[in-house]
Amino acid sequence: MDGSFCSRLWAELAGFLRRTVRFLTTGSSTSSKSSLKGEFFDSMSLRRLLGGVRSRVLSGVQRREFRLPEGGPLISFTFDDFPLSALEVGGAILKSNGMSGTYYAAMGLMGKTSPEAGPYFSGGELETLLKDGHELGSHTFGHISCRTASLSDFTADVMKGKEAVERITGARPSHHFAYPYGHVTWRAKGMIGARLTSCRGIYPGINTSPVDLNLLRANNLYSGSYRWEAVRRLIEQNSQQRGWLIFYTHDLSDRPSDFGCTPAQFESVVKLVQQSRATVLPVGKVAANAASLPPYPKEK
Ligand SMILES: [Zn+2]
Repeated sequence: MDGSFCSRLWAELAGFLRRTVRFLTTGSSTSSKSSLKGEFFDSMSLRRLLGGVRSRVLSGVQRREFRLPEGGPLISFTFDDFPLSALEVGGAILKSNGMSGTYYAAMGLMGKTSPEAGPYFSGGELETLLKDGHELGSHTFGHISCRTASLSDFTADVMKGKEAVERITGARPSHHFAYPYGHVTWRAKGMIGARLTSCRGIYPGINTSPVDLNLLRANNLYSGSYRWEAVRRLIEQNSQQRGWLIFYTHDLSDRPSDFGCTPAQFESVVKLVQQSRATVLPVGKVAANAASLPPYPKEK
């Protein structure tokens, strides 16, 4: 953690404690509407900072490291849950550009419909998904969070999801997983990481060696926050760092959910990726070519 981040965190915590003491001693947290607004934003900024601390801590513990293969930059496209449009629209765009992606299916959602993201996969298309060179990973069975479920319930649901996927793909030596909601805990990371080949989260950034297979970084492609220039810069940085950039989204439609994007946005990212000359591979293909490093923390 750098010094400026620590000082900001301490300043925010001190402010939070001051306001709490004032509230407890005077019974009032605010004296006017404008200070109410100010304190709201203070607490928002405190939440952001604490979120930053959580992601730094969780990225640093229970790691399982590997070295990226030598060569050029790598990029993976991934889809969570997954809505049918992720395959019918997103998969078709990837296929027409000679690429394939990773689909993290929550098998308990099969045949259901989301009011926002539309119908989920129904099962019949999974064979085509594999034939087209895409990869099928898991996302728990019931799409549950490790923050709300007990560790044993979460682990059982992860393994149920894994086995349901393996009934379709056949038991394979490797299995790839994405955390529902991007929620990760210290204990879940250690428990699940030991049972699966790779686990992807939603902490943004570029994966560079040593990459943590227990918590791969990934960047969302969401319509509301989509900025072409920001994506272009990220792809450029990935090329410079010869890293592994992972994107994720959910549904693809002209009126996507808050967690999806439009086909035009997705296609523009695919074009940027093509121009970057990065190698596009499903997550499992990258992990299969990786060399394991000694367990974290490494001996000096
Ligand atoms: Zn999900």
